[in-house]
Amino acid sequence: MAAQREWIEKDYYKTLGVSSTATDKELTRAYRKLAKQFHPDANPASEDKFKEISAAYDVLGDATKRKEYDEVRRLGASGFPGGFGGPGGGGFGGAGGPGAGTFRVEDLGDLGDLFGGLGGGFGGRRSRQAGPRRGADIEAELHLSFEDAVRGVTTSVNMAGEARCGTCHGNGAAPGTSPTTCPTCHGTGSLQDNQGLFSLSRVCPQCSGRGTIIETPCPTCKGSGIQRRTRSVKVRIPAGVEDGQRIRVKGRGAPGRANGPSGDLYVVVHVDSHRLFGRRGKNLTLTLPVTFAEAALGTTITVPTLDEPVTLRIPAGTSSGQTFRVKGRGVPSAGRRGSGDLMVTVEVVVPKKLTDEQRAAVEELARVSEAAPRDHLSDHLEATP
Ligand SMILES: [Zn+2]
Ligand SMILES: [Zn+2]
Repeated sequence: MAAQREWIEKDYYKTLGVSSTATDKELTRAYRKLAKQFHPDANPASEDKFKEISAAYDVLGDATKRKEYDEVRRLGASGFPGGFGGPGGGGFGGAGGPGAGTFRVEDLGDLGDLFGGLGGGFGGRRSRQAGPRRGADIEAELHLSFEDAVRGVTTSVNMAGEARCGTCHGNGAAPGTSPTTCPTCHGTGSLQDNQGLFSLSRVCPQCSGRGTIIETPCPTCKGSGIQRRTRSVKVRIPAGVEDGQRIRVKGRGAPGRANGPSGDLYVVVHVDSHRLFGRRGKNLTLTLPVTFAEAALGTTITVPTLDEPVTLRIPAGTSSGQTFRVKGRGVPSAGRRGSGDLMVTVEVVVPKKLTDEQRAAVEELARVSEAAPRDHLSDHLEATP
């Protein structure tokens, strides 16, 4: 429509001599002043100028029209960058709509109404449901053993719900036939309408944006390409996943509509705990009980790992709580570098009961032990006044 074209070409703010942030009051004041100055009654030669001023105020003086005007100019000035219909916007994400940089009416949302008149007879919202749509992202839960989570595993996840039709493999055509390219849009799913500065595309009415035509629909899915059934998705779990982690499996979510791409599958991992080992990031942890004698005198102990056992040397004079590192026995990594370690924490175990012989030995130990290891506390044992 001519009006919108004019909006893009004419700076009404400049006509009224105000800034684009002027208040309604400022606009009215500016208009009145100019209208008086250029009124044809006062000066017949300024009639065109007066008309210009009136046209500007017709739009800017109306809050709704002004908003639309600002929007049109904003879009016109920026030449319609791919700002609309970006990933996730209106469900076209990833589809890479026909003709990058073109302006899809159905992505306009509220602006659709504003531009409704431009292309002649196609409203913004009406076509929203047509055309290819991306399938939904879905989430599935997966329980893993501690070992599988550490080492990584390839497994499958079973899901009930929408899936690609097993009969036609999702193309919607009966077995033995195949969809043909739509003759109206030549497979692009959209038609272009050039309106000067705007290049508008609309959904092809013959194929509803699919780009293909199904002559004999698949009897199972009746041409939709979608079927409700249980399906199994193979999932490769990388080494070192942690409890609660979400793993994205691209394109294995719900199937898209009208040749749209599938959504993604997110697998939420639940990792069982281990009888012996714990996890801290890439490292495994293990608590190793030792006797006082072993800690005091030192010893070597065979320690389990997730692979073969290793021999760990406990030096003489080890304290309870001290941690030793067994390199490379944690979460493996694809490369040589970056594997986690096994962290072994020594715990000196005090027996609950002693045999007579043990008691005699410990009493002897007490007799020959040096001063209590608590000298640093003595300063604080004085009674406070
Ligand atoms: Zn089918
Ligand atoms: Zn078509």
